[in-house]
Amino acid sequence: EEDINKVKPEYLKSFVFERKLMPSTWIVVRIDGRHFHGFSEVHEFEKPNDEQALNLMNSCAVAVIEEFEDVVFSYGVSDEFSFVLKKDSQFHERHASGIVSVIVSFFSSKYVMNWKDFFPQKELKKPPSFDGRAVCYPSTEILRDYLAWRQVDCHINNQYNTCFWMLVKSGKSKSEAQDYLKGTRAQEKNELLAQQFGIDYQTLPVMFRQGSSVFWDKEDPTERYSDERDGKCRKKVVVEHCNIIEQSFWKAHPSILD
Ligand code: ATP
Ligand code: ATP
Ligand code: MG
Ligand code: MG
Ligand code: MG
Repeated sequence: EEDINKVKPEYLKSFVFERKLMPSTWIVVRIDGRHFHGFSEVHEFEKPNDEQALNLMNSCAVAVIEEFEDVVFSYGVSDEFSFVLKKDSQFHERHASGIVSVIVSFFSSKYVMNWKDFFPQKELKKPPSFDGRAVCYPSTEILRDYLAWRQVDCHINNQYNTCFWMLVKSGKSKSEAQDYLKGTRAQEKNELLAQQFGIDYQTLPVMFRQGSSVFWDKEDPTERYSDERDGKCRKKVVVEHCNIIEQSFWKAHPSILD
């Protein structure tokens, strides 16, 4: 009889320890490709930025936004994406493990499903995987600081990587390029690009410089499309490459974080 008691669900559930994420706070789930340095080499991504690889990431973020209605905004760069869930979300009863695991697994399988659309000539040689974490931000101001941090990171990394790969492509070894750039400031990197390679940083593709913001567009009526079948006007998920640090983006899209 004692043995039977031990397999009672209540007994086994008593070992589960999971705290809910703080109520009425923005939940940010950030996912990041695992070992994508190697993954990008195996699949011969263009360096420093493979445009199709970024478009593939963006297509998965669009799918996440369409699938999970509590996700109100998303920002991505390189092999990472941050998904913002609305403050009052009750998704998975605000359990981090539930929220993170479904978003991460949905994104990963979408990445595999969409691969051939972006790389019709390339075989997917390894299963991509992503890590994920959830963090709560208690105010809209702090959430915007978080997003600004990710976009600043995008800029700093892109500037460094652009210099690094220009040096490597012009004949320097990777360690020579690294040493060459050690301690240089943003201004010096821009000068290096301009003087040695004739590149004006500001003219590089905006997706590389600003990353990608993915969200339901509710404001711009020209972005709306009507569904032919039922004649209803539907919202559309858009991918934009814009400055999300400045106030102007949030003023133009007041409903995202309302
Ligand atoms: P970890 O598992 O710790 O995240 P990682 O190898 O994925 O390790 P990250 O710091 O996440 O390291 O960096 C991602 C790497 O993936 C970049 O350094 C870059 O080499 C590569 N990468 C990701 N996206 C692209 C892309 N669109 N074009 C070219 N390279 C890319
Ligand atoms: P949730 O998203 O809450 O998990 P769910 O629909 O996945 O909802 P579960 O309680 O996980 O619900 O149950 C999984 C369901 O999937 C089963 O009820 C069954 O209908 C179906 N299912 C799973 N595996 C099989 C299988 N091998 N053969 C037939 N049906 C299956
Ligand atoms: Mg990581
Ligand atoms: Mg990574
Ligand atoms: Mg990364």
